[in-house]
Formats: sequence, structure tokens, C-alpha cells
Amino acid sequence: MKQFHNFINGVFVPTSKTFEKRTPISNQVIGLAHEAGQAEVDAAVKAARAALNGEWGKMSVVKRVEMLYAVADEINHRFDEFLEAELADTGKPHSLASHIDIPRGAANFKVFADIIKNAPTESFTMTTPDGGTAVSYGLRTPLGVIGVVCPWNLPLLLMTWKVGPALACGNAVVVKPSEETPATATLLGEVMNKVGIPKGVYNVVHGFGPNSAGEFLTRHPDVDAITFTGETRTGEAIMAAAAKGVRPVSFELGGKNAGIVFADADFDKAIAGITRSTFENCGQVCLGTERVYVQRPIFDKFVAALKEKAESLKIGPPNEPGVGLGPLISAEHKEKVMAYYAKARAEGAKVVTGGGAPDMKGEYAQGHWVQPTIWTGLPESSPIIREEIFGPCCHIAPFDTEEEAIALANDTPYGLATTVWTSDLSTAHRMASAIKVGLCWINSWFLRDLRTAFGGSKASGIGREGGVHSLEFYTDLRNVMIKL
Ligand code: NAD
Repeated sequence: MKQFHNFINGVFVPTSKTFEKRTPISNQVIGLAHEAGQAEVDAAVKAARAALNGEWGKMSVVKRVEMLYAVADEINHRFDEFLEAELADTGKPHSLASHIDIPRGAANFKVFADIIKNAPTESFTMTTPDGGTAVSYGLRTPLGVIGVVCPWNLPLLLMTWKVGPALACGNAVVVKPSEETPATATLLGEVMNKVGIPKGVYNVVHGFGPNSAGEFLTRHPDVDAITFTGETRTGEAIMAAAAKGVRPVSFELGGKNAGIVFADADFDKAIAGITRSTFENCGQVCLGTERVYVQRPIFDKFVAALKEKAESLKIGPPNEPGVGLGPLISAEHKEKVMAYYAKARAEGAKVVTGGGAPDMKGEYAQGHWVQPTIWTGLPESSPIIREEIFGPCCHIAPFDTEEEAIALANDTPYGLATTVWTSDLSTAHRMASAIKVGLCWINSWFLRDLRTAFGGSKASGIGREGGVHSLEFYTDLRNVMIKL
């Protein structure tokens, strides 16, 4: 049985309190995670602080950048181990994790190493009131000890998306991975030791949220800032914890994203795009599309074509060839998604396809599988259209005018992402400026340039990460003024 230990000060640390990690494909126990208590969290924060005061804090940017490149190279060197760990934890298709999770997880270290190496700061020269001269310049200093709290849907990718820039900027981190996905964060500890990252720079504490490692970390008075990806209501709890000591937060939260398809769109590309944005990773992508609005002339044709795509998705375990849909992450999450499937029926939705759980055989019978599901016919006030389900499902509704589509897309407390399909350039630009989101994709979805800003508007987040925007959060910008 695998043991997922905490990683504190360069050492793997077991505890007496363990919890089971079950694989979503069969619900079998595949490992035991060692829950960190207050003492382990204290030790991890102390180790991080000591690293900042030691070799790491004094290291040149050039050397730091070299080390982060070595981290990325070592992840790639152990690619198959990371891949197997991620597949076992999440059950997602091999094709997905091998193309996105692991390579992007490694790339996050190189991208931010390059950015910090090339980041300029401002400088001004001015005349002083006495006729003399003064020069001022900006100095980027590390924020300090960063608490990194992560979700389970893209475990390595979303964790390194924060750890990469945090370390590039010279901080030390204490990571709290999701209790559902302890493996890759633990494995990264081995990588850090192998390439010689000083002890205490990267720490991992396992456990849950309230009254466990998550809360102990975010309430810890010696944590200087918190970066979090997860549900909006967890963000509210973490923000309350961070209020003590007015510590900065960076939040990437939930969404209820609209996909908008105009009648002039390239139909096949729009269908392929919405198929991905609705069903990829079994709908467990924060940027996914759970509300689809289609212009009336192509509505029926669109619903029929998306139904065909949904029904052609092969459901199965990660390594089975041709699989496009894995399981949901846990029994608890399946219960939540199935409750929404039942609610849609109760509210009078037309179930275009799906709406239940597939009949899986043998060892997979106990896995957390659900059918890809499409509904039509619900009012916009329905919880199916207002609440984040985080499953492989969408509701499709018709619209007539551009103004109507904008109003529908914006009628939500969330503001994470949207995907718009049109062949009219002017429509595209107008939609991009009218829809209140952090990320607007036109004729694409989940297409990312890591140098660009990433984050959510409204209840979908606070701040932006990515490119130089990550530097804004992970460094403290000091102004130095010199009177000559
Ligand atoms: P979650 O909020 O339940 O948990 C996320 C992490 O927070 C876990 O590590 C959990 O243990 C920890 N946590 C929970 N309560 C806590 C507390 N009170 N104090 C400190 N830590 C606590 O989210 P999840 O179910 O793991 O992930 C799914 C959610 O994440 C969805 O809402 C999804 O939209 C969102 N998400 C957003 C983005 C984005 O970039 N905006 C990306 C991925 C996922």
C-alpha cells in the first residue's frame, strides 16, 4: 500500500493519523495519506521561514532559475511516474493527463523561471525642490512564506501553476494538496531533493480543510500570503482566515460558464469545441461550459449534433484505448452530480441524453461513473443553470439577438470564462468586451499562453496569475528613492 507522507524541511514525515486514498475507477483503496496536525503545519511553516533566512534567501536569480529548470527536467525525466500517480488519483484518461497535466506541470517551472529572469522594474529620475536630483527604482522582493491550497481536478498542473512562480520569485511554500489527490505533490518532494532545492523551500502537508491541515495553514500567523484554487465558498472561509493580519490572497474559484454559439459559426468546429468544454475531464474543469446558448436558426441541429458527440464518448479507465470520459473524483462528488441529474428531471427538463450512471462491469462497477448529459427546456432561474455542478453536463437554450446572449451570459454571480463561436470578427470583439469574465475564448477553449493573465471576475476569483501578473502577487514591490 502506498504511503503519502508529508514533506517537511526536505524529509518525508509520517503521522499517526492516516486517511484512505481510493481510486475513482473502482473505489479501491490505493494508498494512505498521513494527515498533518497543527504540529506538522507549524514545522512546515518554520522550515519555510528558515529557508528564506538561509541559502535560498541569498541565492542569485540566475542560480534559482537554473534550479527551477532542473525541477522541470526531472519531472519530465520521471514523466511516467508522475503520469501513473495522477491517473491513479484522478482516473482521468491517459490521453488527457499525458498531454496536459504532466507536461504543463513541468512547463510551469520553466515559464516562470524565464519570466523572473527577464522582468524589469521601473526607474525614474526627478528634480528635487532644492534643485538637486533624485533617482528612484523598484525592487521586487519575495513575499515570504506562501500557503498554497489546491483542488483535485488538475492536481499537478494547478499546484505548479502557483509553486512555479512563487519559487521563481524567491518565496518558500507550504502546499496543501487536495485530500483527494495526494500523490503528485508528494512525488514532487523527491524531485526537489534530487535537484538540490534547499530544504524547507518546498513543503507539503496533507489533510482536509476545516479543523485540519487546510485551516491550520491558512490561519497560521507566520504565513505571509495565501494562494488558493477551489470552490467559492471555501474561498470565503480562507479569506476570513487571511483577514487576521491582513494577509494578501490570490483566488481562483468556481464558475458557471456560458458557451455562446452564433448561427454564423463554423458548425463543426463549434460542436467540437463545446464537446470539449462540456465533457473534458468528465466536466471537472473550472473553465468548463455548463450553460450553452445557441442562436435559434441552428438550435435543433446543434442539440442533435452535440447529443451524437456525447453518446459517442467512450467511458472507461485511463489506459483503455479510445477513452474520452473517466469517472468523477469521488463517491461524494458523484452523489452531488447525480442529485443535480435528479433535480433536472424533477424540474421538468427535457433529457436529451444521459441523466444517469452507466452500467460498468467487474472491478469498475464500484467506480464513480456518470453519463454525459444534455438538457433543454429549463427556465434560467433553475438551480441547474445557476449553480456549478462540476460534472459532464450542460443545459442548452436558444437565443435570438446578440444583446440577449450577452444578458444571458452575464446573468450569474460568477465570471470565470466564456467560449464564443462566430465567424463575424465584429461580433467577436463586441462579445469579448461585453461579457464579464476573466477569460474569453473566441472560436477556441482552454487555449492558453502561460504569459497571459489568468483568473476570474465577480465570485470567480481575486487577482490574476500568469506571466508578469504572477509577479504582482508573489513579490512585494518596494520603491527605493535616492537623493543624489
Ligand atoms: P474545494 O474548495 O472543496 O477544496 C480545495 C482545497 O481547499 C482542498 O485542498 C481542500 O482541502 C481545501 N479546503 C477546504 N476547506 C478549507 C478551509 N476551510 N480552509 C482551508 N482549506 C480548505 O474545491 P475542490 O472541490 O477541490 O475543487 C473544485 C472547485 O475548484 C470547483 O468549484 C472549481 O470551479 C474550482 N476550480 C477553480 C479553478 C480556477 O482556476 N478558477 C481551477 C480549478 C478548480
